[in-house]
Amino acid sequence: MVDLKSQYAKIKTEVDAAIMDVIEKAQFINGPEVSAFQSELETYLGVKHVIPCANGTDALQIAMMALGLKPGDEVITPSYTYIATTEVMALLGLTPIFVDVDPKTFCIDVNLIEAVITPNTKAIVPVHLYGQAADMDAIMDFAKKHNLFVIEDNAQAIGCDYTHRDGSKTKTGSIGTIGCTSFFPSKNLGCYGDGGAICTNDDSLAVSLRQIANHGQTIRYHHEMVGCNSRLDSIQAAILRIKLRSLDDYCAARIKAADYYGEVLSKIEGITVPFRSENSRHVFHQYTMQLDGIDRDKLSDFLAKKGIPSMIYYPIPAHKQKMFAAFNCQNQVLPVTDWLTQRVLSLPIHTELEEEQLQFICSSIQEFVSEN
Ligand SMILES: *Cc1c(COP(=O)(O)O)cnc(C)c1O
Repeated sequence: MVDLKSQYAKIKTEVDAAIMDVIEKAQFINGPEVSAFQSELETYLGVKHVIPCANGTDALQIAMMALGLKPGDEVITPSYTYIATTEVMALLGLTPIFVDVDPKTFCIDVNLIEAVITPNTKAIVPVHLYGQAADMDAIMDFAKKHNLFVIEDNAQAIGCDYTHRDGSKTKTGSIGTIGCTSFFPSKNLGCYGDGGAICTNDDSLAVSLRQIANHGQTIRYHHEMVGCNSRLDSIQAAILRIKLRSLDDYCAARIKAADYYGEVLSKIEGITVPFRSENSRHVFHQYTMQLDGIDRDKLSDFLAKKGIPSMIYYPIPAHKQKMFAAFNCQNQVLPVTDWLTQRVLSLPIHTELEEEQLQFICSSIQEFVSEN
């Protein structure tokens, strides 16, 4: 699904030197690379504060802790997302309130939020799924009206530009109260291990976020609150500094591959290619098609026999997961989510796809469809 080896080959000299430099200086934790990456990412995202942390899941957890969310508080979220988004809610004793997604963008359907608001609702967590922004203007208006926090799950969409109603553009992750992202190796900006970051434009929230990520302390050994230990290590920061410079090129390479897929696959009956919303750049963390009347498992097996990987993101939506049994949400009907989990299939997408490979993948799909 990804080709991290070929991507590394292109930056090997720089990356190897940066890693050796950290080792030689022995500044493994909170070294200068971490603060340099932090400020470079602040500049890239156009956000006042970036707080690096250990991974994207921690970023979400720390965000919810810093906002003072308490057991029993309700958080509105899509069910159609990676499990980390909602798992941290349950971990903190919060109640995830699952909402269906828009059938085109696969992001939270803003029209359905009003109906689930209660006096306990404290926050909305839009997920910019597969690399495309949720309808942020509408979400922010709604949140303002109802006095709710907005935590953007930007793990799949770093580099995505959201176009506001007035035509101005903002990077996803910098629009809500807090934005969270992940540097998991296969993400659009991936490191060579685990990593994550939290963003905010709010000065006092930035202090709390930093404090919580560091055992609840600002001054050493003075622990103001219960926090956790969540750090981005210096080696990962050094690698991310190098890769951040190529992030726009990486996004462009993904978009180019998606363009190729779209050109061919949109002509095949039974395949719906990813929708591209007018108010969002789609940075294609995943290239996910919807199949109608095409046997997904058979297609996937057929491709696998030719050495082409494909994946189902996500086969079981969050509300149907056993881990949330206590919330009695298993039988909740989310028609679009249920439909998508049955019909989606993701194809390989990354920065190193060659036209020849794209051609082979597309013609293999054409072959399957014409024979079945
Ligand atoms: C990857 C991902 C996360 C979690 O990131 P980790 O770094 O793996 O903890 C959270 N939300 C979404 C939508 C993701 O894709």
